[in-house]
This record gives sequence, C-alpha cells and structure tokens, in this order.
Amino acid sequence: MRCEGISQNHEDSLFTLWKGTGETGREVWGTVPCGDDEALPEAAASGVGEAAVAVIRFEECERTKAMPLKKSDGNMYPWVTHTHSHLTGKCPHGCVYCYVQAMAKKFANMKARYGGALGFDEKELKVVYGSGRTIFVEHMNDLFAEEIPRTFISAVLLHCWQYPGNQYAFQTKNPARYLAYLHAQGFGMPALPLGSFLGTTIESNRDLGALVMGYAPPPLMRKRAMVALRGVYGHHLRFVTIEPILDFDVNVMVDWLWEINPDFVNIGADSKGHGLPEPSADKVWALIASLGQLGIEIREKHNLARLLGE
Ligand code: SF4
Repeated sequence: MRCEGISQNHEDSLFTLWKGTGETGREVWGTVPCGDDEALPEAAASGVGEAAVAVIRFEECERTKAMPLKKSDGNMYPWVTHTHSHLTGKCPHGCVYCYVQAMAKKFANMKARYGGALGFDEKELKVVYGSGRTIFVEHMNDLFAEEIPRTFISAVLLHCWQYPGNQYAFQTKNPARYLAYLHAQGFGMPALPLGSFLGTTIESNRDLGALVMGYAPPPLMRKRAMVALRGVYGHHLRFVTIEPILDFDVNVMVDWLWEINPDFVNIGADSKGHGLPEPSADKVWALIASLGQLGIEIREKHNLARLLGE
C-alpha cells in the first residue's frame, strides 16, 4: 500500500507517513527523519513514492530548515560514520601542519568559512543527527581550545544531547577542558554526552615549540589531563592520536601511554610534506611493539609506510 499523506512533528523532526485517510481514520504507515538522506531511499523502496520523497527532501525540509548530516569522508577515522562542524574561522591553536588551514589556502570557499575570525554558524544547529551513528563533532577546529567561548561549547553539546541515540567523538589539544564539562551539570552548562569518545592529540612527548606545534597546550599538559580523566568516568572512551607523529623519546612516550591507559591509540605520519622533525623507523617500531606489550589497541595506522621504510 502506498503512502497517502505526510505530516510533520516539529518536536523531533520526524515526518509521519499515513495511509487510509478516508472515513476509517488514519493509520501510521511509517516515519522518516526529516533531512535524512539515508532513510529516504529506504522509504522510497518501501512504497512512499519518489514524488513524496522529493517533497520531504526539498520542500518540507527547506521550510523547517532541518538539514541533513554529512557522511564521514575517507580521511577521517574509519570508526567515525559522520562528521559535523558548527565553528567557523581559524582554530586558535594554529598548528603548522593543520589540514584545515592548508585547504583554506587552496580553496576560496574553505578560506571564506575557515580563514577568518572565530565564529559560530547558527544554522548548523538545525542539522538532524538521527541515531545509531558515531559523529565526530568539530573536526575543522578545536572545540575545547581556551579561546572558544563557553556559549559555543554549550550550544554544540546541547545539539548532541537532542539526539542521545548516537555516540559522539571529540578531539582536542586542550583535554583539561573536558574536565569542566564532566563536572558541568549543576553549573548551568551541559555535560559531555554519555558514552562519548574523548580524544587528544599527542604528536610527541617533546614540546617542539610554536613553530611546529602552534599555540596548543604542550604535550605534558595534555598527558596530565588525560590521566586525570582515567578511571573516574568509565562511561566515556578515551583515545590518543599520535598524528602527525613527531620525533619522540620512546621510553617517555611509552610511560605516558601506560599512565593514560587509553581505550585505543591512532598513529599517523605527516602526508603533506611539511618538513616536520620525524622519528626514525626504529623508534616507531619500538613504540608499536611496546603498545602491544601493554595491551593497548592501535586502532588506526595512517601513512606510516614511508616512515617505516616499507
Ligand atoms: S588543533 Fe587541529 S584544527 Fe586546530 S590548528 Fe591544530 S590541527 Fe588545526
């Protein structure tokens, strides 16, 4: 039986599809999240009909300003299904190897969005997150940098809380600020969503200075914050990303990771020829072997072949 009518619940951005609209009253045929590009073909295949799908996608969604969520592209972690970003302008950390700023130099549209002063795109709050996804939030900036206003962070976290059926991934070079949002309830701020992935980047144990690492807190501060998160908040997952891997001291790095005891680690090398101080293959192999001995999962290895001489 075909769908015979469509109505919208503005509370949860769901369209209800009806059948039997005659004297016998209406029966629910099914529901479709507004702006959900993945659900729409499924609905079409079930008999909603292309015309109704077109109405949902182009007219109703536009009218209510609900917007679809974008799927993660191949450069993101494979365990992330979608990415989303509300922040605009330059990330205050200014890392020399930042891929966002590299793109902003190359493409006019990226420069317009990410090349200027820090800002917040309110219309991104209309994006429908749906459920059953792992969404990397603010992959084009650093949401927890000290310079990001609390109002921006609260708005992003409240957006996530509207869709509790997802897992959210955050990554920052200022993980000390996670602590404030674990204790946030009661202080008028939203907390980090339960079950979130809380990550930090530690490219090296060495502080290589602003010319390489920008203005982010030094690696030792990041390590201390991740240790502080350990164990106390078991409902979150913690990860460390060593990318782009920079020259490091094997014993110190292994000690740090042992102290942090993350749920998993990602390791990756610079792929854009930034001329960074990089470790030898022996050091990288030693790190990989030590993590194996400690039972710490290496979930992702990005572009390591060049460094490992494979
Ligand atoms: S913290 Fe991330 S987003 Fe910010 S400048 Fe560094 S690489 Fe770019």
